[in-house]
This record gives sequence, C-alpha cells and structure tokens, in this order.
Amino acid sequence: DEHKAGWNLDNSYARLPKKFYTKIDPVPVRDPELIILNQLLAKDLGLSPSHLKDKDGVAEIAGNKIPTVAEPLAQAYAGHQFGHFTMLGDGRAVLIGEQVTPSEVRFDIQLKGSGRTPYSRRGDGRATLGPMLREYIIAEAMYALGIPTTRSLAVVTTGEEVRRETYEKGAILTRVAASHIRVGTFQYIAQWGTVDELKALADYTLERHFEGYESVENRYLYLLRQVIKRQADLISRWMLVGFVHGVMNTDNMTISGETIDYGPCAFMDTYDPATVFSSIDVKGRYAYGNQPNIGAWNLARLAESLLPLLHENQDEAVKIAQEEIETFPDIYRKNWLVGMRSKLGLFSEEEQDQSLINELLNLMKEHKADYTNTFRALSLNQLEGQNLFESEEFLKWHLKWNKRLEKQEESKEEAQTLMKKSNPAIIPRNYRVEEALEAAVDGDYCTMERLLDVLSNPYEYTKEQDEYATLPEASDQAYVTYCGT
Ligand code: AMP
Ligand code: MG
Ligand code: MG
Repeated sequence: DEHKAGWNLDNSYARLPKKFYTKIDPVPVRDPELIILNQLLAKDLGLSPSHLKDKDGVAEIAGNKIPTVAEPLAQAYAGHQFGHFTMLGDGRAVLIGEQVTPSEVRFDIQLKGSGRTPYSRRGDGRATLGPMLREYIIAEAMYALGIPTTRSLAVVTTGEEVRRETYEKGAILTRVAASHIRVGTFQYIAQWGTVDELKALADYTLERHFEGYESVENRYLYLLRQVIKRQADLISRWMLVGFVHGVMNTDNMTISGETIDYGPCAFMDTYDPATVFSSIDVKGRYAYGNQPNIGAWNLARLAESLLPLLHENQDEAVKIAQEEIETFPDIYRKNWLVGMRSKLGLFSEEEQDQSLINELLNLMKEHKADYTNTFRALSLNQLEGQNLFESEEFLKWHLKWNKRLEKQEESKEEAQTLMKKSNPAIIPRNYRVEEALEAAVDGDYCTMERLLDVLSNPYEYTKEQDEYATLPEASDQAYVTYCGT
C-alpha cells in the first residue's frame, strides 16, 4: 500500500537534538476534501497522483492518517518580527518527513494549517481556504518564473469552520521545501542551545544544502558565505520581477535560499520603491525598495548566531562575520545588474548601463508606469498602454537605449529574444488572484485552474497571456494584504 502511494520518507530532522522540535501528529480534521493537487510535482516527488486523490491519500495530506515510518514534528525556531526578537516555532504546521525522490533529492513535506502545537501561542493552529490557495498560486507562479521557492503540492479543506473575522472554511496546504531551516532556526539555537547543538545544526545544514563544505578551511564561514550568496541571488530575482515579500522577518528567511511564507506578499503594479501591501507594515520596513537592505540585516542576524563557530576568539569572529556581511550589497547589485541588462536585451557590459537603467526606472516612477508591462512592451517593441511612452524624456531615453543596442555585436532579434526570456509576459496580478480566490471559496475552481495554467508559462508571449497582462480597471494601488489568516 505504502509502496503504491510512493512515500519514501526519511526523518533526518527527527534525529537532531530534542531541543530542535517537538514530535507531534497533525490534529485530525472532520471531513477532508481535496481542492487542488499539483500532479506534476507529485510525480517529480515520486508520489502517485491517483493515490493522493484517493481517500487514503487525502487522509494523509489532511493529517488524518500518518504514512508509516513518518515521525511528524513541529520545528522550533525564533525570529526577529519587524525587528523584535521572539520565540516562535511551527504554530500551525507539522513536518511529516522528508520525501526522497526517485532522483535522490530530499524535500520536506509539511502540512500547514494542521492544528495546534506547543508553539501555537494564542493561535488556533488552523488556516483558511483563501490564504492557503493564495500561497499555492503564488508559490507555483514564482516557481514558473524561475525563482527559488517552496512548492505547493495540494490544498484540502478540513470540513471544519475556522474563526477569523467571520467563520471561514478551514484548509491545509501541503508545502514542499528543500528544507524549513530558517535564519530563525539558527537564532533559536544560538539563544537557547549549547555550542554543541549549534554545531549540530550547522553541520546538518551543510550536509543538506552545501556541497563541497568538506574541503574548505572554515566550514561555518563557508555556510555563512553560501547563504549570503543565495539570498543575494534570491532577492535580486524578487526585485527584477517586482515581487514584494511583505514579511521578511528572520523566521521567514530560509537557509536554502528558497522564498518561503507567502502571507502578505504581492506583485507591484505601478513602479515605486516605496510600494507596501501588507496591512501591518505601517512604516514600510518591508517595502519593495527596502528588501535588499532587510536581506542584509537578516543575514547579519544569521552571522551573529554563528559567531561561536566562526573563530575561537570572539573578537576575531566578529571581524570575520562583519567582513562577510559587507559583501552582500555588492553581490546583490551585481546579480541585479546582470538581470537588468537581460531585461533590456544587453549582452555586453558597459560602464553607463547602470545609469541607463536608473534613468528608465526614474521615468517609470515619475509617469506611474506599470513595472511588468513596461518591460513587456519594450520586449514586444510595442510602445503602447503606458503614459510613459508618450513623454518626451522617454523618447530620448529610448533613443539612447537603441544606440546602446546597436553598439553590441548581437542583432536586434537576438536582443529581443533575450528580453522575452527575461521579462515575464504575465505575473499573478493582484486582481486576478483575488478573482480566482473569491470564486474558489464559493466552490468554483475553474477561474483558479485557468489562472494557474496561464501562470505556469510566464515567459510565453501568446494571445492567451495577453488577456492576463491587462491591468485592473481601477488602479489597485490601494491593494492590501494580510498575514497569518
Ligand atoms: P508568519 O507571520 O506567517 O510567519 O507566522 C509567524 C508565527 O505565527 C509562526 O510561528 C506561525 O506558526 C505562527 N502562526 C501563524 N498563524 C497561526 C495560527 N493560526 N495558529 C498558531 N500559530 C500561528
Ligand atoms: Mg512564517
Ligand atoms: Mg505566514
């Protein structure tokens, strides 16, 4: 039976010191029903889609039945939430185990919305359908955009009502991740564990995510360096597509370099570095343009946690950590510049590229241009649909850019091909996501399925994508997102 389902679970996290987690089963739910299943992902994981659609499979992803050999647990972690350090942990999630795929890759299988745990604080441990589907959609959209991310395997409803502002349908998301080790996991052990436990976490993380660590001189410095690289890569990719994470607390930053925790996130429409969607981010700490700074700030918290491992002499350790953290802005900026050059069809590198890019961004801000659709229009060489394109200054910029394109060896066609590969024709527009969620919560899943289908090919410039590139009738500048619902 297990063989047929395809489960091939290991529980390496459960072999770590007891302080790292609490073994706990998901709390069973009344009447689970499968709402959506990611069949391609299931297959990649070595899981049988037909099993997961079946009563037993649904019971497993609802937490009513534990696959044999699984040792479910809730992970302990801490984190800086909006700058304030606090003890956290999986308050409404359980790690079922690590699925080892047919190609020998290990993925955490986590049920989110699975009931109370010792880390729930005052929460009910549950999640509701809208937000779980929202995470499902955005994570899969990010994956299709080529951005490192946790994945969504399935969403089930629980048959139970969950109390929020009103009563809502309860739901559980099956989240798939390279791991759920967070900056906050290191902070938790650094704060409340022993140095041996910290070492155990660091060694486990190196073994799981960072090949090649055995041959380096200082493996814990290597760990820090690699995380810095991965986050600089990740955040530059967010910036290039206009993604606003919305709640970059240190507990929501992975060590693997995957985007995690799609709560109040959203894609920016009108280009403005000050863009904030989250209802609780009143000071704009996690604004679009502030994400690289916050990334560096979070990484500094990781570096602090690693101090006891970086050098025997703590003054030396601080120096090493500081030097390493100071590399972030440059690595980030280089990644971003590479990405921006591609977005503008530039193959070669020139000194003035940075100012060419900045000039465009400034014009976009000034003329309230849509971020995605500006690059889309440039890629299609169809300069319509933005006020920006009517302006004198833009025409000057366009001339300058064309001259720059002419200077490189590659043809205009090659440049255009590069641009189409680098500029998504579509992103998950907030109004489209909302429309799909509203229908889904009312029991109609067609709109969501169609949206997911279109979002799975964001770099295809087809007629079907055109419809999803349209801006909302009224500006959704005032779009507000919420976390923890
Ligand atoms: P987040 O803002 O989504 O990263 O969540 C922060 C913390 O709150 C995490 O430790 C979550 O597990 C916890 N949490 C969020 N919602 C709930 C809930 N409904 N019940 C219990 N814990 C929750
Ligand atoms: Mg979180
Ligand atoms: Mg969340």
